[in-house]
Amino acid sequence: MLSDEQIERYSRQIILPQVGGKGQEQLLRSRVLVNSNSTIHIAALHYLAAAGVGTIGIVTSAPSPLWAALEASSSQDPFQVLARLNPDCKIIMYAEKELRSPHQFVKNYDIVLADTDLLHDACWAAKRSFLYASVSAEEAYLMHCCGDAPETACLRCTSFSPTVQQQTDKPLMEIWALFIGAHLATEAIKHLLALPCLARGTALRFQTPILGCIEETVEKSNNCILFHE
Ligand SMILES: [Zn+2]
Repeated sequence: MLSDEQIERYSRQIILPQVGGKGQEQLLRSRVLVNSNSTIHIAALHYLAAAGVGTIGIVTSAPSPLWAALEASSSQDPFQVLARLNPDCKIIMYAEKELRSPHQFVKNYDIVLADTDLLHDACWAAKRSFLYASVSAEEAYLMHCCGDAPETACLRCTSFSPTVQQQTDKPLMEIWALFIGAHLATEAIKHLLALPCLARGTALRFQTPILGCIEETVEKSNNCILFHE
């Protein structure tokens, strides 16, 4: 049951027929795990917290320039900044070295937003959805990988390397990463609300300078090292 304060906080999205009071309660019960080492994921974290996702787990590794700026601009820990953004949102932090049994770990979450092979493979082992996003000067890419649908393509079936967006010396406009971060959070929220979202095993490919996008089906690869059947 939503409190009066929560009804006021989320009023603009509660009045959407796709959300409603029940959808908002669902979001507050939801658990999302986010890998935090890119601007895309830090942007997504803010949108998820603002939308009222009840529990957000954050795996930290190398901080991005934006994360460092957030840290420098606040007297408080950046995770406290997120918690302050929405007191309904419980933030749980993990160091990367804590992921000793990653598939057991990701089982505690409804969906994972990350860019590492480790978490991607763990989602397939735990039959969880994994949302991948990357951005470069030429293109951005967002893919919904479904660990519970082995007949669909996974990230390893593609030519995309999770390391692309971790190369912080490459040319990039931060606004592109924020744009893709908003898309990433939107896909996660649609998944949590069981609304139509990016189809399983498909991807959105954006031409970065104009941010026009096309949807494409990713074919399952026979050379993929993951077990698909
Ligand atoms: Zn695969």
